[in-house]
Amino acid sequence: MILLQKHDTSRARLRAILKYILIEGGIRVLLQIATTQPEKNVQEVREYDLSLDVDYTGLKYSGKVTVDLESIGDVSLNAVGQQINSVTSGSKGVPFKHDGKVLAIQTGKFSGPLEIEFNSKISDNFTGFYKASYGDGYILSTHLEAVQARKVFPCLDHPAYKAAFRVKVRTDANLSVISNMPIESETTEDGKNTTTFQKTPKMSTYLLYLGVGKFVQEKGRHGKTELYAAYADRPTGKINTGFSFEATQKVLDYYELYFGIPFQLPKLHNVAVPEFAYGAMENWGAITYREILLHVDKDTSIRAKKSVAHVIAHEIAHMWFGDLVTMKWWDDLWLNESFATFMDYKSTDRAYPDWKVWQDFVRTSTSGAMGRDSLTKTHPIMANVHDPEEIEELFDEISYGKGASILRMIEAYIGSENFKRGVAQYLQKFRYSNASGQDLWSNLQEASGTDVSRIMEGWISQEGFPVVKVSLTGNKLVLEQERFLLTGGTSKQIWPIPVTMNVDGKTQLLLLDKKKSEVNLATTPKSLKINVDQTGFYVVQYDGRALQDLVWKGRLSSFDRWGLVNDAKAFLLSGRMPFKEYLDLVEKYQNEVEYLPAIELSDQLSFLYQIAPSKLAETSRKFHSAGLKIFETKKDDNSTTLKGVIAARLTLLDDAYAKSAGSKFKDLASVEPDMKRSVVMGYARSSNDYDGLISRYTKSATDEERLRFLEGLVSFKNPELIAKTLDFALSGKVKRQDVRNVILYATSNPDGRTVVWQWFKKNMTKLEVMYAGTAQFSIILREYFSIIGVGLAAEVEKFFSEHKIIGADIALERLRVYDQLAKRINATS
Ligand SMILES: [Zn+2]
Repeated sequence: MILLQKHDTSRARLRAILKYILIEGGIRVLLQIATTQPEKNVQEVREYDLSLDVDYTGLKYSGKVTVDLESIGDVSLNAVGQQINSVTSGSKGVPFKHDGKVLAIQTGKFSGPLEIEFNSKISDNFTGFYKASYGDGYILSTHLEAVQARKVFPCLDHPAYKAAFRVKVRTDANLSVISNMPIESETTEDGKNTTTFQKTPKMSTYLLYLGVGKFVQEKGRHGKTELYAAYADRPTGKINTGFSFEATQKVLDYYELYFGIPFQLPKLHNVAVPEFAYGAMENWGAITYREILLHVDKDTSIRAKKSVAHVIAHEIAHMWFGDLVTMKWWDDLWLNESFATFMDYKSTDRAYPDWKVWQDFVRTSTSGAMGRDSLTKTHPIMANVHDPEEIEELFDEISYGKGASILRMIEAYIGSENFKRGVAQYLQKFRYSNASGQDLWSNLQEASGTDVSRIMEGWISQEGFPVVKVSLTGNKLVLEQERFLLTGGTSKQIWPIPVTMNVDGKTQLLLLDKKKSEVNLATTPKSLKINVDQTGFYVVQYDGRALQDLVWKGRLSSFDRWGLVNDAKAFLLSGRMPFKEYLDLVEKYQNEVEYLPAIELSDQLSFLYQIAPSKLAETSRKFHSAGLKIFETKKDDNSTTLKGVIAARLTLLDDAYAKSAGSKFKDLASVEPDMKRSVVMGYARSSNDYDGLISRYTKSATDEERLRFLEGLVSFKNPELIAKTLDFALSGKVKRQDVRNVILYATSNPDGRTVVWQWFKKNMTKLEVMYAGTAQFSIILREYFSIIGVGLAAEVEKFFSEHKIIGADIALERLRVYDQLAKRINATS
């Protein structure tokens, strides 16, 4: 599963993410095991035969599921929200009890099929079998990860209980139905269609898919696999799926070769869902996406196109890693997500080499994970979770970004060929079955002859990450590790760190697995850089000016130069680096010509401008103004993206620029797609034309266009107009999935901050209800309130002490860090 990443604000580096975590709930969790493990007697579920009769207009359905299973005692199934009418075996009734969550059936020791008849309703939030609206119409679509299958039909909703599924749906004859497998037969009777699908291979319940509605379906092919793109049919706003087919074919090519296993199902659907809380979901053979993630046309920005490729690559990686081989239990969810994230970059890098996407990996996945993991409110990658209700909490930057970064670190350590062999071996061994992280390490270990397990355990079982402190006396290099925390302080933790160093142009490797290590170099080095190409998940602090200067003496890759300023930001935030020293470093990046360091600097200066606008306005304006001139002349895709980002940010910093950019608004259609944002924002800032922008928003045909106008609508200088837009976001005229974006955009505009805070307090409950069952609400808290609250820290703290909300403690810890930094910056003369 994935959520969208936003490259466009300084909060941006926070990839794809959902809810916040509460591992400290361990004790509470243990107490609940007894009631949340219906699987205690059931040995095996062989097959589900699921028939649904869907009343499309009435938004309800009746169903019958035949569960073929083997049990050593009474059978319990998960069943949430259904009304259970009968349970039979053969034609005989079996006594049962249903408490609304668990269906307890008095079978005694049992083997064979149990038939259950039930009724249920279509959900109106984003989980289970739900209604996804567009304009005047809607489709019905499922989202079952993590534990939502039980909301659709009675089942043993546990990833290790893999079973085959037969699915049959009866509904209005003018609708079509999509599921994981190809259609086996279709019959029509009394204006109703019955669609029967081929039996699936053994798979976990959370991967089942059902879509019902008026779909446009386009067809393609990859080898033996039939490819489809499906989207809700409508008069305007067609989804242009050409590029999504191309990306799908390219990444399938790559994965089949890399994993050594062909795609397993006869067909693969990419389904665009009009309203979707997440970015995409890897239902086996029927992947769901937000509409914006399948649509690319001539007006699509490169930035949006890149995210289309990435998300497709991520989801298709799951077809092997997650769907074919599945984690035994949700505590290894991170392995699914980390691996899909890591493979996404590998395959996209191969499919679109010009994008050099590993640069985006470090600045989003690695850096985003470090940002979260340098708080005290973090958790180990491997979370000790027993209660299914808390699984949702696990989709975060640690599970995706940190896990993927650790995989990249291990790959660099054992070599890419060994890594690939170990992965292929692992998938072969566990296909159509379940496995744990340990199983993967064993295979990587076997393939490489390196002690992978010990290193991995050291990184996944403990929270946080180290700072490696480096000092040099003559030719004696001393490396010392300690935990890095933004709040200062440290701990006694030790990590097994594969440290790479470039000494006088030669790369050396050493495993720093104790507190301190000394290395005697052959001679006193003339240049030195630790963490070569930033493959390691740690920051590096060089002791003393002389050593810091040595770092700049060698040849530094764009990754290395990114790493130096990325680490500097962490040190600035934690108080390890004074603001003046940070500004000296920033000077080295004036007139930066390379994408990765340049976009990082743009991110950082925009972030600092948000928390200390008056002190940063000029530095940031100067950087962005120079950057725009530099990248204006470059024509490659990354430069085009960067130019768009820089121009948009410049409209917030420079009124004259906003005016000149805004003057192109009347010819918006002919503006280069990546530059359209800056034109819309510039127009908003220089015109205050609320009605004009609303009217353009209303007429927009694509989600990207709509989001662009929404961003314009909160980029005004006039706070009253921003407030008006925020209210508009809740008027029903903005897709619920996009309300979060509106808040994000408003947060990036320092003129809107106070307004966002007032509005949030008023509408908090509405947002909470709207995003119930997903992590969207806590993302809003976690990612935006640490910025909005700067300067209002006491008030925000008081508010959240009165309103206990998941995610608030993370937001508050960040806020304290940012607020302190703002004070330090503002006190700097
Ligand atoms: Zn995923």
